[in-house]
Amino acid sequence: MNKKTKLIHGGTPIDPHTGAVSVPIYQASTYKQDEAGVHRGYEYSRTGNPTRHALEELIRDLEGGARGLAFSSGMAAIHTVLSLLNSGDHLLVTDDVYGGTYRIVTRVLNRLGIEATFVDTTDPAGLDEAVKPATKALFVETPTNPLLKVTDLAAAAAWAKERGLLLIVDNTFGTPYWQTPLAWGADIVVHSATKYLGGHSDVVAGLAVTADAKLGEELHYIQNAVGGVLGSHDSWLLMRGMKTLGLRMEAHEANARAIAEFLAGHPAVRNVYYPGLPDHPQHELAKRQSDGFGGMIAFDVGSAERADRVLKRVRYFTLAESLGAVESLISVPARMTHASIPKERRETLGITDGLIRISAGIEDKDDLLADLAQSLE
Ligand SMILES: *Cc1c(COP(=O)(O)O)cnc(C)c1O
Repeated sequence: MNKKTKLIHGGTPIDPHTGAVSVPIYQASTYKQDEAGVHRGYEYSRTGNPTRHALEELIRDLEGGARGLAFSSGMAAIHTVLSLLNSGDHLLVTDDVYGGTYRIVTRVLNRLGIEATFVDTTDPAGLDEAVKPATKALFVETPTNPLLKVTDLAAAAAWAKERGLLLIVDNTFGTPYWQTPLAWGADIVVHSATKYLGGHSDVVAGLAVTADAKLGEELHYIQNAVGGVLGSHDSWLLMRGMKTLGLRMEAHEANARAIAEFLAGHPAVRNVYYPGLPDHPQHELAKRQSDGFGGMIAFDVGSAERADRVLKRVRYFTLAESLGAVESLISVPARMTHASIPKERRETLGITDGLIRISAGIEDKDDLLADLAQSLE
């Protein structure tokens, strides 16, 4: 099955109980048992719910894994996955990960005795230097947020396997439409489904997929124990959004490419970060491991004041956090999504005060380009 077909026919597309072509919202917390301890697959909705289950089977098939799990947010998914670690374990993390991932690792997991080192995972030498005897996992985000750095997934998987480490990949930016990390050897994929998978800025959700069933069972055990599950309404809404993922990703990408090329040739713009540009440092790698470059672009206008001028003048780019939805969004990571990262660290990473991030929506390309042109004048 090709991807666009899988989006429609993957998982459990038809309700097995009624034949409904849209799996219904099973709004039930508990289920009648035929005898004490004998149920029909569902006993309590924290443990399992038919609507959530259909979503979990869909993401499992899209990522090509053994088990899919749906959570109340991307962070709930990441928290559950990182709960596979024990006190005393060490974790390697991509240096410019999503701000919330940085926060949970440095402010929450650290209190449980889980230590982390942030490394530039685009450089294998950095990994060798940072790995410790207590290291248990490598957490990679690729492409990264907001600088669109690309990590070689096959190389990271080989490196992790050699050392017996789990490779966890945050695939939020790529989505399974463009890249499937499990196929390159990752053990677990996580998503903020709030972004492209949902695609309409109307649901907060997280997903995780494991390559093997045993790890999936362990993860489900923690999910059920912790309880950060996705409700049935949101599971339904997410599935509805995912059906058009292919159409949307192609539209996002076409707009993003046009915007990146326009910005790269604009005198008021210093750096443009987009893996689809031939001068992006990992352009060839991105081409090799993904079927597309995505819809996210970052660019530097030099100062916070200039960034503010652009934000004030744009008409079709909504100033908001988040990304991946049908409407174009614009943000200044240093003061918004990445404000929880200390300024010094931000500057080292290249997340300057003048850095603007765009999530290209699916509006008309010419309108978006004209809008950026007038806002950069
Ligand atoms: C938004 C985001 C998250 C967190 O997901 P939530 O759904 O907001 O909890 C994690 N990783 C990346 C790359 C994100 O963009």
